[in-house]
Amino acid sequence: MLSECIDSVEVRALAAANEHRQLHVDSTGLAKRFKRLAELGAARTVSGESSSGFVIDLRFENGEEGYPCVDIALAGQVDLECQRCLKPFEFSIDLETRLTILSSDEQSSQIAKPFDAVVMMDEGLDMLTVVEDEILSALPIAPIHESVENCTVLSDGLLKLKNQAGKLNRPFANLSTLMDEGGKDRIE
Ligand SMILES: [Zn+2]
Repeated sequence: MLSECIDSVEVRALAAANEHRQLHVDSTGLAKRFKRLAELGAARTVSGESSSGFVIDLRFENGEEGYPCVDIALAGQVDLECQRCLKPFEFSIDLETRLTILSSDEQSSQIAKPFDAVVMMDEGLDMLTVVEDEILSALPIAPIHESVENCTVLSDGLLKLKNQAGKLNRPFANLSTLMDEGGKDRIE
């Protein structure tokens, strides 16, 4: 049902029935149906495997303003490419949103939160595109590893710094040896 566009009659029927749908999307499904996410590298990693996957809960109901609404709850993860080291990493997604489904732009002036609304196209409403829009807007503009240890560029940089620090410390180590030797000299 949700793999293609639903028209306004179907939306009203779903809302009237308080329909609840749950979809499980794995990386294969993501590559097939969430093209824009797939283009971000969400369906593949360097090794060719992807851990992308999420569960989408859709609950339809009639909203207080007289229009059908859908509550979208989505949890899971997508693989993104770190903009610093260009390696894939898992980004957790956990979002909840409520959208009012309108059949024309004019209706948006009649609701309190026009930004939380989707307008049905002539061909109907493509729920998965709506969901993909929500996921995309939840992603960071420049995805990067949160943890320094996991980011190759940063951990390499840290390693270099540590090595440099090691070199800088060496004269002090030598100094203590020298002092020991010096001490011996003085006693003898
Ligand atoms: Zn990184």
